[in-house]
Amino acid sequence: MRTRAFKYELRLNNAQRTSVEKHAGAARFAWNWGLAERKQRYKERERKDRYTSAMQQHRELNNLKKTDFPWMYEVSKCAPQEALRDLEQAYKNFLTGVKAGRKVGFPKFKKKGKCQDSFRLTGTIKVFPDSRQVQLPRLGKLKLKERPRLPTNTHILSVTVKREVADRWFVSLTVKVPTTPPPTNHHRKPTVGVDLGLNQFAVLSDGRTFHHSKPLSTLLRKYQRLSKALSRKKRGSANWHKAKTKLATLHYRIRCSRLDQLHKITTTLAREYGQVTIEDLYVKGMIRNKRLARTLSDVSFGTFQRLLKYKCQWSGTMVIPADRWFPSSKRCSSCGSIHQELQLSDRQFLCPSCGLLLDRDLNASYNLLDYLWITVTVAESSSETLNACGAAVRPFESPPSPLDGRETMIAARPMKQELSTN
Ligand SMILES: [Zn+2]
Repeated sequence: MRTRAFKYELRLNNAQRTSVEKHAGAARFAWNWGLAERKQRYKERERKDRYTSAMQQHRELNNLKKTDFPWMYEVSKCAPQEALRDLEQAYKNFLTGVKAGRKVGFPKFKKKGKCQDSFRLTGTIKVFPDSRQVQLPRLGKLKLKERPRLPTNTHILSVTVKREVADRWFVSLTVKVPTTPPPTNHHRKPTVGVDLGLNQFAVLSDGRTFHHSKPLSTLLRKYQRLSKALSRKKRGSANWHKAKTKLATLHYRIRCSRLDQLHKITTTLAREYGQVTIEDLYVKGMIRNKRLARTLSDVSFGTFQRLLKYKCQWSGTMVIPADRWFPSSKRCSSCGSIHQELQLSDRQFLCPSCGLLLDRDLNASYNLLDYLWITVTVAESSSETLNACGAAVRPFESPPSPLDGRETMIAARPMKQELSTN
């Protein structure tokens, strides 16, 4: 079984809107209360129970409900309970992250109006597709803006209700769906090499191309105008709030259109191909390149990789990540020689050795298509080198020796520029 989430927008009336806001408020309050309590415990050094759990905290909060927070009876008990569980998870993530040497922040207090309003509920959750409704504990039946399409006879584990910009509320239903074994006919589907780039989002070795929607670039002027307008308003005023919502809505639109495009491409790749070779992009390092940072975050290769990975797992498609140093752009797909002088601005690939003239990205996708074959040949040739010289030579980092054969040429390491293009 695997978990899947289904997200729908809610159509709320005023009473329901107040009610979901109260729930989100209770969740935020519980989080803040729990965090303060944990911090207090930790300070008291002689105390035996310096560490606590979500369950224990929920019990304590329940006891305080009667006397201190009677307003909490207006919301489902799940909202604070789940918030405390999230807090516990945040603590665990922090501790394991620190141990592993990763950069993980300590849980923070949530500020009303600044944090994202959301809460999670468990228990009896029902979906009525025909009347387009969802039934949640305490909140009752809420209308959805579209017909929910959950798989039949699924058990809904939990629901997260979340506020997006411009007061739009969404439900995200988490369900368990049976894992269907991936179809065994995937080897009959075609193999493809995919070159990701900044001019075209993806160029496939069978000639298909996917254009960039590049949402931010198109809307950049609008974005600049709106953020200028916001900065000219008096902070906290009614007009400032209006301008802020406008800007946030634009942001949201950009995010949605970007994600939509990524979903379309990855679904196509996972459904129609049996094997996909793709560059293993080092996104974090690339974003550090300031000149490319905005364009790169705009096209979000990181999300692309994540989506492709799980979709291919579902469909049984093999994903082969090409080595980071594989010179997919500079290698001639016909004769295998490396074109060192290839510039970022060259849109055509003209091979100095054999005279092949080809679209640059298409040439790269051909190379990726042949990636496995090429690496195998290189590995074999390098093991020969190892026997001959007695020294370990890594296939992609060996210095370019006199160009006498195909294998040695492939082994030449690409220049830095190459990395930022791909
Ligand atoms: Zn050539």
